[in-house]
Amino acid sequence: MGPPRIELLRVKNSLQTQLSLLEKIQEIDIEVTRIGKERESYPKKKELIDEEVSRLEAEVDSMLAVKDELERQRAATESEVTVWDEKIKKNEERLKDIKNEKQYKAIGKEVNTATKKKTEMTREVVRIGKLLETKCDELDNTKERLRQKNEECGAIEAEMNQLTAEWEKVLAEKKTERDAIVAKVSPDILRRYELIKDKRNGTGLVVARDGTCQGCHMSIPPQLYIQLRRGPDELIVCPHCHRILYVDKRISV
Ligand SMILES: [Zn+2]
Repeated sequence: MGPPRIELLRVKNSLQTQLSLLEKIQEIDIEVTRIGKERESYPKKKELIDEEVSRLEAEVDSMLAVKDELERQRAATESEVTVWDEKIKKNEERLKDIKNEKQYKAIGKEVNTATKKKTEMTREVVRIGKLLETKCDELDNTKERLRQKNEECGAIEAEMNQLTAEWEKVLAEKKTERDAIVAKVSPDILRRYELIKDKRNGTGLVVARDGTCQGCHMSIPPQLYIQLRRGPDELIVCPHCHRILYVDKRISV
């Protein structure tokens, strides 16, 4: 056993250490990405609720306009009922001092017409009243939905504020932890990891198990796998997905 063998062993050991440091960095990166995604999801959730609140507010406004219009129509129809009613009373009064048959018939006809109109308008008042009742119920329901949405909006804001404080604390901790590990990793290895990670959906480093890359689930050529198991003296990447491969000694050996 001459010095070159010792040198090779040192390289192997140091590569093994580098890979396990990289594994820790990746764990941190995955957690940081997860927090980032969770964080991003909140403004979107809030935005959806805000949109629903605006939609319901507009709905309440237009329903209030409909309600106002129906109330106006009902009041107008009610005054028409009063007008026809007064006409009936006036003509009935006139009938008392009628002198001839012709006049009597004419006034009688007017009373009939006014009575018909009054009945018609009274029915219309009832119809509008029923419609108004339905519209008021719908309005109440919409107002209640709006109240609930506003409540939801407040709740998500409170949740977001609380979580933001927690996320910031965890992210600061993770950064400190990562910086400390990065200081021990060779810049070349770190750069390769970062490059692959960016191209490969956040994972630059994967375990090889049972002759298969656990990143893309493709078989690793046997010669390469043997080299990995033995402890490589240089970085080995998956020939299919190009991620850095390592063997988890806790599982594979
Ligand atoms: Zn692969």
